[in-house]
Formats: sequence, structure tokens, C-alpha cells
Amino acid sequence: MRFTDMDIPKTTKTICRGSNVPVFLRASLAIALLCFLSAAGTQAQSNTRIFDLLTKLKLARHDTARMDIYLQLAEVHIEEGNDPEKAINNANLALILAQNYKDKRREFLALERLARVYAELKYDLKAAMDYLNEAKAIDTSFTTIADRAALYGDEGKIFMALNDYEKAQQAFLRQLTIYEKLGNKRGIADVNYELGQLFFEQKDYRQALAYFNRALALYDELDDIRGRMYALNAIGQTWGRLGDYTRSLQSCTEALYLAQAANDRVHLAEIHVNIGYAYEHMNNPTEALRYYTGALLLGEELNNLRIIARAAREMGNIYSQLCNEQEALRYYTQALEAAQKAGSKALLKDIYESLFEFHDENGRNEEAYQWLKKLVAIKDELYDEERTRQLIHNQIRYQTEKKEEEVKLLRARELQNRIIIQNQRLQNYALIILILLVLAGIVILYNAFKRKKAYNELLEKEVQKRTAELQRYNEELAASNRQLEQSNMELERFAYIASHDLKSPLRNIISFLNLIERKVRQNPDPQLLEYLKFATDSARQMHQLILDVLEFSRVNQDEVEMTEVDLNDTLVLALRNLKEEMSQKHAVVEASLLPVVYANSVYMLQLLQNFVSNGIKYNESRIPLVQISTEDKGDHYLFRVRDNGIGIDPEFHDQVFEMFKRLHTREEYQGTGIGLAMCKKIILKLGGKIWLESEPGKGTTFYFTLPKPQSAPASANGTREKAAAQTGESADAVAT
Ligand code: ADP
Repeated sequence: MRFTDMDIPKTTKTICRGSNVPVFLRASLAIALLCFLSAAGTQAQSNTRIFDLLTKLKLARHDTARMDIYLQLAEVHIEEGNDPEKAINNANLALILAQNYKDKRREFLALERLARVYAELKYDLKAAMDYLNEAKAIDTSFTTIADRAALYGDEGKIFMALNDYEKAQQAFLRQLTIYEKLGNKRGIADVNYELGQLFFEQKDYRQALAYFNRALALYDELDDIRGRMYALNAIGQTWGRLGDYTRSLQSCTEALYLAQAANDRVHLAEIHVNIGYAYEHMNNPTEALRYYTGALLLGEELNNLRIIARAAREMGNIYSQLCNEQEALRYYTQALEAAQKAGSKALLKDIYESLFEFHDENGRNEEAYQWLKKLVAIKDELYDEERTRQLIHNQIRYQTEKKEEEVKLLRARELQNRIIIQNQRLQNYALIILILLVLAGIVILYNAFKRKKAYNELLEKEVQKRTAELQRYNEELAASNRQLEQSNMELERFAYIASHDLKSPLRNIISFLNLIERKVRQNPDPQLLEYLKFATDSARQMHQLILDVLEFSRVNQDEVEMTEVDLNDTLVLALRNLKEEMSQKHAVVEASLLPVVYANSVYMLQLLQNFVSNGIKYNESRIPLVQISTEDKGDHYLFRVRDNGIGIDPEFHDQVFEMFKRLHTREEYQGTGIGLAMCKKIILKLGGKIWLESEPGKGTTFYFTLPKPQSAPASANGTREKAAAQTGESADAVAT
């Protein structure tokens, strides 16, 4: 613990007993018991810690580990406060090892603990100061900022004990700044407590109370029972100085139970003095005496001269009031001796004052005068000291307040910085997320691009493959077409040669059959005549077939002459050829104005003649009607040849264009089945198309197209006039 005007070394006795506790104390017993239990836990905890550390020490293999354990043991013993020698031993062991190993940080820590133990537990301020200076001499590069903060705290306490309040305050403020920066709550609580002590020492009780209360609140937050005990005792003592003894008693009683539970004898003595002080001023001399006696006994056992001096003086005062002169004098004398040994002018002044009043009240003027003289002399000495102290105090107070303002400002700035940093962090996060998104987008796009490229390459390869295949097929097709053309040509050539060569023997056969017939008619034999007729008919039929085949095969073979052909003229020619058939069946042919086309005139005649001939032949109407019309389709002409004949079943619409395909027997309708095949061949050769529309019984319409000639033909009227002039007949309506 810290330094007040009543520092007490350790004692082994427990002073207060439950049975003697006054009513007020008993009332708060329940609450205190709770504190006791938790404080007892703290004591047990520290014993367990020491035991654990000693076990670890036995097991430690390296000196570094050993040094750390010694340092921890020293710390626990300092905190516990009961055995300074053990604390010193452990700190020294750590120091020796650290110096051996030139481990500067651990050397610093050992020195710091030694300074603390000498200042707090041994009250040897000189030794404490020496250790402190040794620690301070170690280069700061070996230590942490927290290490230095601890050293500032020790320095502050030593200076306070030496009444050098200015230096003490400077050290505490440095320590506070570091703890604020580190956000060390316990450290801040401790410094607040020390600053409270500093103001208490300077009799600025209000200010002291404020610091103690701040420390108490922080210790409560941290659940630090020992800290709570220190703060409560200090608060109780301060209330006593401010004249509020009820509050003083309240706080000190709470502290008393905590000190008992922690078995902290140093504090027990101090708390006893404070409680005695409260009772004394509450006009309860019995209780006051009881607590002062406790304090005195503790003081004697701990050999704490200050506490002895103070308790004995207070006891002297009480006995003086109780008119027990003998006892009063005994205690005053004890107080005087202790104060003289302690060399405390403040205590001596109080005792001189008490002795002066004691003798004065009892009419011993001479003794009274002697003590008054001493009192005046010491007061003069103290006055100078007091004045200087007051000056320093004012300075300190001003600086402390200034420092507090600075700390507040620092905190506000820190908060602001934290907000700015947070915002910046958020912005950075947002930026990072954005960048990541963009990167992800790029990666996705790149992948898609890569995939597309690969797909395109694949596609290109496939296309190339297919193109190659197609080319191959085309080549194959062209080759097979060429073969086909070749074989067709050969076939046609064969057909032509065969037909041509067959034509002359057949003509001979027919001629001879005619001769035979003529001979037979001279001696008519009806049966023979009939046989001859059959033979002649068949031969003629065969002749016709050969002629037709010849015609058909000529279409492709001959290099035909292409000219402008006026189809009106062609039609007139065709009708003239069909005159007989038309008159036989009373047929009518109607034609609109036909165009001039670029073609072969023989082909055109065969074409029109075939369509008109079929339209009349395959017609059972009373008056067979064939209508020819045309339509200009821009780049070609569309022709329609419509009849009112028997019609064709849709099943055979394509087949009728095949060679030798006939839908009827020769008995039904004469023919060779070559006509339509030849029409198709001619139209295809001229670059047109051919098809039909028909239903059985509803007539047939043949359609075909012919491309227009490159050079425009003469006008339609002109063509018509020409056609009429050549035939002497109208192309519009050709009579039967
Ligand atoms: P054919 O010499 O037999 O007339 P085609 O090639 O001209 O040979 O005709 C083939 C077949 O098509 C004919 O046998 C006939 O059955 C049918 N046909 C052709 N033209 C017509 C038409 N205008 N009306 C009905 N049937 C037709």
C-alpha cells in the first residue's frame, strides 16, 4: 500500500472481534460477509498462485523461465504485502540471473520490484530510490512503455513519501498518460488512487475525494477487491477529515471487513485509526478507545512509529477528556517518543498542542508554558514549510487540472481519430470489395472470352472439317454426275443408234407387209388379212415408238439453234398439225396472246403440240376444251395449258413425266408414253420448270416456265399481228 501519515508495518494479530462489534457494524455485517467471502477467495487465490509458481519453479529447466517465475513470485508477495523479505529474495534472485545473462529487460523488472518493495513494504525510501535510479539507468530500448509506466508510479510514491509533491505529481501524470494511451483500466484506477493520496497529503480533501471515488468506480468495474479496500479506506479517512463521520464510519467499516478477509494487517491498523477517529468525533469515547487501542497494538507489533504516535496521542486526548490524567500522560509520553523517533514535525506539533492544552486545562501553567513555547517554535518551522507546500500544492492542482483537460482533449481527439480511421477503414473495405468485384468480373469475362475463343476455334475447326467434307462430297457428286451424264449420254446415244438402225429394217418390214397384203387381196383370205393387219399395225406402232425415241434422244444430243421464237406462230403450226384430231373430237383450243421466247422453234412446237394433243386425247367431254395462257413473272414467263379432260390421279402427278409411263392401255388411248417425258426434258434444257395440277374428272392444268430472252423481244401486238399474218388465223381462238 501507499503512504499516508499513518504507515504501519505488518502485524500478526487480528484486532476486531465480532462480539464486540457495535450496532452499526452489526447491521452492515451481512453485506460485509459477502465482501468477506469474495475477499477470502482473493487470499486463497494468492496462496494458490504462490504454490503454483513454486511448483513451476521446481520444474523449470531454463534460467529464463526461472527468472520469470522469481519476478512473478516477487509481484505476488508485494501485492500480498505480508512478507517483504520473500518479495526481496525473489526479486534479488531474478536480478542476479538477469545480470548474469545480461538480460536487460528482466534486470529492469527485478529492480523495479525491489524499488517497490523497499518503498511500499520496508519504508526504506533511500534504498527504494537507489533501485529506482538503477532501473531508470537501463536503456529504454530494452523495456516496454508499460514497464516505464510502472516505474513512474514507484517514483511518484517515493517522492510523495519524501513530501516532494511536485515531483510525485509529475511522475503520476506521466504514468497516467501512458495508461490512458494503452487503455489500461487497472493502471488508471491505481494512478487515480495515488493522485487522491497526493491531494489528501496536501489537505485538499474535496479533490482527494473526487480521485478516490473515481478509483473506486474503476476498481468496481474491474471487480478488484483489494483496490476496493484501499479506495474505501481512503474515502472513509477523507470523509473524517471533512467532518462527515457517519460516512467515514460507513466506508471504513466496509474496508475493515475486506482487510480482515484479505488478512492485510498493514491496512487493518490504518483502518482502525480511521474508525477510532470517527467514533472520537461522534462522541463515542469507548468505541474510539477500543479501535485506537487496536491500532496502537498493531503499530507496536509492526514497529510503525507514526501509527503509534498518532494512536497514542488520540488516546491521550480521550483520557484527558475523561479526566484520567495518569493514563492521558502515559499515552502522550508514548506518542511523543514515537514522534521524536520518527522525526515527524507534523506529529510533534500535534502532540505539543495536546500537551499544552492538557497542562493548561489542569492548571499547570509552568508546564503549559513550556509546551506552548515548543509549539510556537515548531509551528514557525512548519509555517515556512507549509507555505512552500501550499505554493507547490496550488501549482500541482493547476497542473493536474490542466493535465486532466489535456487528457480529455486527447480522448476526444482519439475518439475523433478512431471515427476517422473507422470511416477510412470502411472506405478501404468498400474499395477492396469493389476491386475484388472488378477483378472477379475481369476473371469471369476473361474466362468467358477464353471459353468463347476455344469454342470459336473448335467451331472453326469443325467448319473447316465440314467444309472439307462438303468439298469432298461435292467433288464426289460432281464426279458421279459426270459419270451419270456420261452414262446418260451413252444410253441416249445407244437409244438413238438403236432406234436409227431399227428404223430402216422396220420400214422394209412394213413395205414387205404392204406387198404381202396387196398379194393376199388378189386372193382374199379373211383370216390371213386379219393377221396381216395385226402385223402391220404392230410394225407401225413400233415405227412410231422408234420415231419418238429418236426425237427424245435428239433433245440432248443435237446442238440446237436458239432463236427468238414467237409462240403464237408456233401454236398456229401445232394446231395445223393437230387439225385432224381436233375435228374428230370437235375440240376447241383457246389461247391468250403468247410471248416471244428465246428457244429452239422445233422444241417449242413439240412442246405445245404435246400439251394440246394430250388435252384433246385424254378428254371425254362433249366438246374438249384446251386453254393456253401466259403470265409475265419478271425474269420468266409462266405458261398454263388447261383442259377439261379426264384428269390425273395425284398419285401419278410426278410419274407421268417419266419415260414410257402410261396410265392407260393402248386400247383405251393410243400413245407411247414419251410425250410428257420429252416436254420435261425440253423445258429443263431451256432452264425452266414443269408441273401439273389435276384431279380425276376435273381436267388437268400443266404449268411450265421459260426464262425471258436476254434481248427484249418485239411488242406483244407486233407479235400477234405477225402470228396472224403467217397463219391467217387468230391465235385467240382457234376453230375446230
Ligand atoms: P402418251 O403417248 O401415252 O400420250 P404422254 O407422255 O404424253 O404419253 O402421256 C403419258 C400419260 O399421261 C398418258 O398415257 C396419259 O395417261 C396421261 N396424260 C397425259 N396428258 C394427259 C391429259 N391432258 N389428261 C389426262 N391424262 C393425261
